[in-house]
Amino acid sequence: MRVGVMGGTFDPIHLGHLVTAEAVRHRFGLEQVVFVPTGRPPHKRESDVSNAEHRYVMTFLAVVGNPQFSVSRIEIDRLGYSYTFDTMLALGEVYGAGCELYFITGADVMRDIHTWHRAEGLLTLCHFVAASRPGYTLSDYIAQTNLEKFRGSGHIHLLEVPAMAISSTDLRRRVRMGEPIRYLVPEAVENYIREHRLYLEGSCSEKKP
Ligand code: ATP
Ligand code: MG
Repeated sequence: MRVGVMGGTFDPIHLGHLVTAEAVRHRFGLEQVVFVPTGRPPHKRESDVSNAEHRYVMTFLAVVGNPQFSVSRIEIDRLGYSYTFDTMLALGEVYGAGCELYFITGADVMRDIHTWHRAEGLLTLCHFVAASRPGYTLSDYIAQTNLEKFRGSGHIHLLEVPAMAISSTDLRRRVRMGEPIRYLVPEAVENYIREHRLYLEGSCSEKKP
């Protein structure tokens, strides 16, 4: 069994995340992709990230219609910082020894991954799929890092996915400026953002620039 794990802040989740997950699922024959919203991301200030429950519900709404996608609370319910190493270790136990895990990231995350907690250990726990993302060049990043030596190990994969120049940062800005986010996020997510007045000037969920 092969399971994909897509970690992210998902603040909010958008079509770039979904298209990437689906492309990786298809390419690597994954039975499932689990979306894991971060609890306390070590690389972002807590006050800069929306309430975890809002992010969880939006992620749920985005994936609920696809039986091969699901969402996990594993990082949200964990106290302290969310380290991907701990998450993959825990998911490996959940799915058992017969399961191969594929950690899915965009090219921007791949660029920084060598700085992560136990980065090399992580590569022994799972495969890494770095998906293309507009504005980032994949192969250069790996060459620049000490992960280069893992490249031949068969654990790092690069994949071109349909280019979606969408980011959560831009979506938050759009909401704040009254610009449309329709067709950039699933309709249910758009409605949720409107109903809960997320990302508006002065709202507690707003991230500062
Ligand atoms: P923010 O602007 O708040 O950082 P984001 O759009 O980068 O948000 P994240 O939740 O940070 O979204 O990203 C989760 C994962 O999805 C990361 O691995 C990121 O590289 C990947 N990703 C996000 N947007 C895209 C996209 N448009 N194309 C490909 N991968 C993406
Ligand atoms: Mg990001």
